[in-house]
Amino acid sequence: MNFNLKSSLSINIIIISFLTYLVKIDAKMKLGFPSSVLITLCMVQSFENSFVASFSSTSSTSFVSPKTILNSRNKFKIDTSLLDVVNTDNAESTEIVDRAPCFDGSCSSDPDEVVHDESSWVGEATTRLGDMTGPTVWTEFGRLSQENHISANLGQGFPDWVPPKFAVDSLVEAALDVAKSPHQYTRTAGHPNLVKRLAGRYSTHMDREIDPMGEVAVTIGASQALYLSLQTLIKPGDEVILFEPFFDLYVNQIKLAGGTPVYVPLTFVPYDESENAISGGEWVLEPENLEKAITPKTRTILLNSPHNPTGKVFTQPEMEYIAKAVKMAGPQCVVLSDEVYKYIVHSPPAEQMVAEEEAQFSGQLQNPSLSCPGHIHFASLPDMWDRTITISSAGKTFSATGWQVGWCIGPKHLISPIHQIIPYVQFCASTVIQEALARALPKADEPYEGFSSYYDYLRAMYTRKRDLLGSALKSTGFAIPDYNLTPGGGFFIFARIGKDIAAAIPKERIMAKNIAAPGGIARQDWALCQWLVEEKGILCIPSSPFFSKERALAGASDEFVRIAFCKTDDTIKEAAQAFSILSEEGCKTTATE
Ligand code: PMP
Repeated sequence: MNFNLKSSLSINIIIISFLTYLVKIDAKMKLGFPSSVLITLCMVQSFENSFVASFSSTSSTSFVSPKTILNSRNKFKIDTSLLDVVNTDNAESTEIVDRAPCFDGSCSSDPDEVVHDESSWVGEATTRLGDMTGPTVWTEFGRLSQENHISANLGQGFPDWVPPKFAVDSLVEAALDVAKSPHQYTRTAGHPNLVKRLAGRYSTHMDREIDPMGEVAVTIGASQALYLSLQTLIKPGDEVILFEPFFDLYVNQIKLAGGTPVYVPLTFVPYDESENAISGGEWVLEPENLEKAITPKTRTILLNSPHNPTGKVFTQPEMEYIAKAVKMAGPQCVVLSDEVYKYIVHSPPAEQMVAEEEAQFSGQLQNPSLSCPGHIHFASLPDMWDRTITISSAGKTFSATGWQVGWCIGPKHLISPIHQIIPYVQFCASTVIQEALARALPKADEPYEGFSSYYDYLRAMYTRKRDLLGSALKSTGFAIPDYNLTPGGGFFIFARIGKDIAAAIPKERIMAKNIAAPGGIARQDWALCQWLVEEKGILCIPSSPFFSKERALAGASDEFVRIAFCKTDDTIKEAAQAFSILSEEGCKTTATE
């Protein structure tokens, strides 16, 4: 439809003015059946058409800013058949932006826009963030991606394709189900259809009967599930243990709740420990480090497995150390287990798979599609149900990060405080999206694209993408985990910077001032990512924002960058091409697995 938004709006205004004028004339002439009604009936159709035209002229580009449409380098083709159900008359909308909204230029890290106001205008929440209110890695790399020619965006963790058709169909069906009207508020603690589905699934995962009404809370994404959990658990001064590196959102959420983050570093153990070797390796939890961090103030241990940013899958023994630490800390200590990547364990721990196969063989696991192969639900460990809030969301599993439906699962004494505060945050999470997810969940258990379920397909797809990106990174000179040796999950590779790559970074970029970098200094990881985005058209994320400022400034993150493979094969291939130019320019392969 070539209708221009401005002109259609003007037509609408002209029609409305004209109708108003007719109504006034009718009133003056006191006509029984006003002429305006007849004329109105004739004009309604034209009004509707112009309204539809104005709407569709915007909706055809609803995810794309005008700047982006012009900016062809940021586009990719999508499988339009997936859109059939959504947008049948809009064949032109084959383009979608490869950026989340905050990457479309609407965010800025311009320091002038950051208000550090110490006056009494600033409330308690802002004060609690201290100096952590400035630009973030996301706003800074959003700005850089906007200002530079990007051929491959491997930055933010959102898939750059349309969600599976059955999920989109579920959304459309839910939206059109007028009888059930999922367009109004629903139950505050969670839409009944969804909490029942979630409770059913988690009853299998946890091997216990979960009460849909008392032990499930639906939230706006996993982010709000974390936020509400921390708000209900933490008193000022309480300590929250984080395994470092960590998903960067946690720190400020802990501070907002009045808590103090306590960092327990995971240790990077390279495969090749000889001096000067740059190899891949494993991030491991050393129990002594955890034990040292426990104090009487330890209120929460925040666990994230599969892990963002490293892709680490915590092993059974590591989970057992954590369970031991929880008991050591005392009865006040609770685990927040962030499991948003639980369906993407692309390289499961061998022992876990053996245990699952045995369970299946012995008939304990009756419905394999209801399991998460390779994933351990922390709450299913002995005695841990009562001490754990399990957090997850639909975004990563269904390639729908914008749906923003998340949840908390746990015992009543931990979930009911969350139920109590939800109504003061919002009345409910989006009803129509909750209904859509409730409809999509059973469909995901059915055979999909030649796999026995959508979940099996998802794991196979991510394994393929991981290897596609992994081989490009290795031939550029990055060292990456060997997934035959090291369990892995999620959709990031935490790549180690090889020597030739490090040598190729322009020296003036390293240790340059940068307000968005931790401590205001662009160390090696940051300098590399900034150089890659500005000079080579590849967007990756530096690792320093995933470390505490102190350890980042001490160099703990210098050698790593986070690279996303939740991207179309075409995007990954473009990245491989861009990386190959980089290696031709001098970053030869010196790194090993
Ligand atoms: N936890 C982790 C570990 C994540 O990586 C993310 C998203 N990047 C979230 C939570 C937030 O998930 P949601 O989009 O559902 O809020």
